[in-house]
Amino acid sequence: MSSHISHWIGGRPVAGPGGRTAPVHNPTTGERIAETVLATEADVETAVADSVRAADGWRRASLSKRAAVLFAFREQLHSHIDELAAAVATEHGKTLADAAGEVRRGLENIEFATGVPHLLKGEHSTEAAGGIDVHSVREPLGVVVGITPFNFPAMVPLWMCGNAIAAGNAFLLKPSEKVPSAALLLARLWQRAGLPDGVFNVLQGDAGTVDALLRHPDVAAVSFVGSTPVARHVHRTATEHGKRVQALGGAKNHAVVLPDADLDVAADAIVSAAYGSAGERCMALSVAVAVGGVGDALVARIADRLPGVRLGVDMGPLITREHRDRVAGYVAAGAEQGATVLVDGRDAEPPAPGFFLGASLLDHVTPEMSAYRDEIFGPVLSVVRVPGFEEAVELVNANPYGNGTAVFTRDGGAARRFVGEIQVGMVGVNVPVPVPVGAYSFGGWKASLFGDAHMYGPEGLAFYTRAKVVTTRWPDPATSAVDLGFPQTR
Ligand code: NAD
Repeated sequence: MSSHISHWIGGRPVAGPGGRTAPVHNPTTGERIAETVLATEADVETAVADSVRAADGWRRASLSKRAAVLFAFREQLHSHIDELAAAVATEHGKTLADAAGEVRRGLENIEFATGVPHLLKGEHSTEAAGGIDVHSVREPLGVVVGITPFNFPAMVPLWMCGNAIAAGNAFLLKPSEKVPSAALLLARLWQRAGLPDGVFNVLQGDAGTVDALLRHPDVAAVSFVGSTPVARHVHRTATEHGKRVQALGGAKNHAVVLPDADLDVAADAIVSAAYGSAGERCMALSVAVAVGGVGDALVARIADRLPGVRLGVDMGPLITREHRDRVAGYVAAGAEQGATVLVDGRDAEPPAPGFFLGASLLDHVTPEMSAYRDEIFGPVLSVVRVPGFEEAVELVNANPYGNGTAVFTRDGGAARRFVGEIQVGMVGVNVPVPVPVGAYSFGGWKASLFGDAHMYGPEGLAFYTRAKVVTTRWPDPATSAVDLGFPQTR
């Protein structure tokens, strides 16, 4: 791996003259493995100008040409899953299997976008009024920017770029500065797939780079995924600057376990979804809500499974030392605020010198405690006990976040009622991580999404296009006349 990670502009790596850099770590070893350049305002100008140039050509590419490039990109992704997964695992710390899983889920979004000749078909009405035909088309926006988080270095860019490019835009990616390499690999794969240079550009950078992009007059739209405070800022700033914005934020996802649930099934699912990727998923289940009398039996089953979660094998480290310490702080705060720390991840033996923290299980957590209130984004599961179904729904609906939730039950009627009453964007029924398949769209409610378009799938494609409606008449000159009245449909 290069020790100096660059931008990718106009089909080649560009170092950037600015000289600002940020360290990139391997969270497993704790070592500093590279420096990534951080774009200056001048780099932003260069990248956006190149994207404008590329967008102007690409918008004219036929739908069949675009589809051919997308099919070729899908093949490139398929044959480079291992390479992408290795880049993700090295800089993020997740296991190789988990990293390969995120690439495969990202592939679904490219497969959806290969259908662009069908998906962009407009509507047509013959004789909508006397002698008048009407048809609609969806046109690209121009330069669209994607700003992505550290926790899915391949999948989240793939949520965005397939649809953006299929729709005829130039896509400019600003990946997380903590995990900059996967973006460059994606850029090379797009090039090998035959995408014209500049249609997929990568600008490495930090908050300053993002702010310059949000204000840039030649950026038409911004797709953001990250934490809620930054999502709110991105939505407000980009909207003020006249851009279309979808900004996905953080989460606090509840697993609601009803009294009739198979508790072994529920415990397996909750352990998998709470501690997978060390809890650094926006769809991680970080709260288990034990309904009725199931608390003790559920907690015992979860605790029984935790020795089987091997640190360094099944569960990797956290992204940075600071984040590891912050997550550990929530375990300490839980104990101080009255929760029962049944399993304390701070006691786990780290398998390597990196940023490891073992799985923690907090019982008797209440909504006032910081472990419940905040998105911890680490391997900490809080168990909250409620007396009945209504209280469980009230708890979830009172939470400011609304990304994902799951209900565990064998009662179809109860599950149906839960789905109808819950104020959350993505709901699983006995499915712990209900990330929608690529033919649907991904998005939370409330503080988990700012803007009104969900990401990928049909809503994602609509986000990257704007509608034009064309009204056509071929008048007979013999009947043509001046008429100052407002046009009537007859
Ligand atoms: P983050 O908000 O710190 O960073 C996200 C992106 O914004 C990065 O590219 C970063 O460089 C940039 N950024 C950071 N601070 C900024 C600022 N002040 N101004 C402008 N840009 C800024 O998020 P993260 O720590 O990389 O990722 C974890 C967060 O992302 C969690 O909250 C998680 O829930 C969320 N997330 C949400 C989803 C979703 O679909 N809702 C998916 C994945 C991650």
